[in-house]
Amino acid sequence: MNDPVFSQGSVLGRFGVVVHGGAGNVRPERRALHIEGCRRAARAGLAVLRDGGSATDAVEHAVRALEDDPIFNAGTGACLTADGIVEHDASIMEGHDLRAGAVCSLRGFANPVLIARAALDDGRHVLYAAEGAARFAAERGFVPVGDAALVTEAAREALAAAREGTGPTGWAGGTVGAVARDASGLLAAATSTGGTVNKRAGRVGDSPLIGAGTYADDEAGAVSTTGHGEGMIRLCVARSAVEAMRARVSADEALRRTIEHLRERVGSVGGAIAIDRNGRYGFARSTATMSWAAAWEEGEDAGI
Ligand code: ASP
Repeated sequence: MNDPVFSQGSVLGRFGVVVHGGAGNVRPERRALHIEGCRRAARAGLAVLRDGGSATDAVEHAVRALEDDPIFNAGTGACLTADGIVEHDASIMEGHDLRAGAVCSLRGFANPVLIARAALDDGRHVLYAAEGAARFAAERGFVPVGDAALVTEAAREALAAAREGTGPTGWAGGTVGAVARDASGLLAAATSTGGTVNKRAGRVGDSPLIGAGTYADDEAGAVSTTGHGEGMIRLCVARSAVEAMRARVSADEALRRTIEHLRERVGSVGGAIAIDRNGRYGFARSTATMSWAAAWEEGEDAGI
């Protein structure tokens, strides 16, 4: 709780993607895996931009890659509820006309971010919950894989440890997110998670909530958050950071201020990534780790 906020920023240029693999305290021997997973996802997003895809397509692909990597708390390998099942939350937002899509408490699908994207494209509603979200997904042609296919041994162990009170303090790390800018100046953000280990049935965190876990506005910036969802919701962290960027605060400084405020005002820890309208990116965390990677036209960088 007393860790200082660590933040860093750099310039990404005309187009690029930044991803995170969750705020938490990843064990030292697993850190390289987290960084590698983030690198792969950022490259997947960049490949989409290189092929002429939009920032929205890029964050969708980057987050999908992270959902498919079982070490992250999203898609396959997401953490388990108190009932021992996966309930996914995910959202995506496009910064041109502020279109957004999201799902929460969704069971049985491998890639919730794709269903959130379908909601964005459909345009009628922003957020679908539980059975309604599953029905929407099925109507859009997504095939459920079932509850069991999403559960990994590591997730079972984490739930057992949480029930016994022997789990790690804070988060194990693993919620995922991405922000991107394409050459046209479009900004987008997406976030996906299983939420928190041993959460009560029906608990919804910040990740599917536009303004708390995800926000994108071409006139300001794009943000994806991770950490203590209850605090993120109360402070609308993603939107707050975007508003700071609108006031011409740099991406890393906007996040540093917001994550510090989160700790000071409601005692919550977490982290976030951002990209601003000028192609400057940044991240901040008040947890011990938050894996991240950035990929742009001429290079890439990553860390934890
Ligand atoms: N923010 C997520 C939630 O509260 C958890 C996380 O980022 O690790 O659902």
